[in-house]
Amino acid sequence: MSTKDWIEKDFYKVLGVSTSASPDEIKKSYRKLAKQFHPDANVGDAKAEERFKEVSEAYEVLSNDGKRRDYDEARRLFASGARPGGFPGAGAGSGPGMGDLFGDGGFGDLLGGLFGGGGGRRRSGPVRGNDLETQTTIGFHDSLRGVTVSLRLIGDTTCGTCAGSGAKPGSSPRVCGACNGTGSATRNAGGFGFSEPCRECRGQGSTIDSPCPGCHGSGRVQQARTVQAKIPSGVRDGSRIRLPGKGAAGERGGSPGDLYVSVQVAPHPMFGRSGDNVTLIVPVTFPEAVLGARIEVPTPLDGDVTIALAAGTTTGRVLRVKGKGATKRDGSRGDLLVTIEVAVPQNLSTKARKALQSYAEATADHDPREQLAAFRGP
Ligand SMILES: [Zn+2]
Ligand SMILES: [Zn+2]
Repeated sequence: MSTKDWIEKDFYKVLGVSTSASPDEIKKSYRKLAKQFHPDANVGDAKAEERFKEVSEAYEVLSNDGKRRDYDEARRLFASGARPGGFPGAGAGSGPGMGDLFGDGGFGDLLGGLFGGGGGRRRSGPVRGNDLETQTTIGFHDSLRGVTVSLRLIGDTTCGTCAGSGAKPGSSPRVCGACNGTGSATRNAGGFGFSEPCRECRGQGSTIDSPCPGCHGSGRVQQARTVQAKIPSGVRDGSRIRLPGKGAAGERGGSPGDLYVSVQVAPHPMFGRSGDNVTLIVPVTFPEAVLGARIEVPTPLDGDVTIALAAGTTTGRVLRVKGKGATKRDGSRGDLLVTIEVAVPQNLSTKARKALQSYAEATADHDPREQLAAFRGP
């Protein structure tokens, strides 16, 4: 895809959303279109395949905050009449060049940010920091209540000694004389000019005479830092949470990346989780199950509640306590699902044994396995 190509592509139009669409709207529309044009659903349909590619490409850019910002910015500039001058193969010299508009930075950085960059792009402008991944384990109750955890991260961060410039304090990077700060040089071959990264500054557009002792001129240092991550209430085991701007520092004033935190929830000895519901097994006695009872059960966040056990409740029956589960995305609560389990005593007193024996005599005409007889073999 050429520079001109993508700048003329309207990713918003491709996804059928407005330029002010929320990330949710974009995702929803993408899912719908991706499903509609998926190659599996349109075998041999080249048009659908093309649409599928377009939709994926548009989503790739619009689903990423940083890329979307760059894209919007680029389109805004193009709408105002700018053209990507000074690029290999682009019509340099026609209209205002991008260099005039961007100064030392360049359109190449916008493109690079979007598409991973090419060999000839200028590297002297701001570069967004990398996204980082980490993981944390939280307790069951914290997962329900929400919790702020301190995450220790080791990674690239802006050098404090030189504030990221790479130059020794008191000095500053010098515009590269070989390329006049453009970062690219033109090589002539057979009457044609080829653009390639400047060898003097390795495409940076600037050179550092006295490198910063803290970072040896890179402007970045490996450093441990602590990030406070707010884990929302109701988080599920295995969730991945995005913390915007908490990733690696950007280069040369670029915005920081995002931090993704995978959350593991430690199991609880009593409570379990099923989607937004919390599960609990509650043992009851045989008389309670047969005669019915009001029993107290604990909830994870709201103290004890009393539930009514109907007469004749069978073991394995699930009772629902509304609104005592985990917090859902919309802020409402899931339920507490109580599974009734009839407890069988392992030791009986003489009195209890006698009572049970007389109960057995009193119910001798009841055969709970009557139904099975019909299915017995010869
Ligand atoms: Zn430094
Ligand atoms: Zn240079």
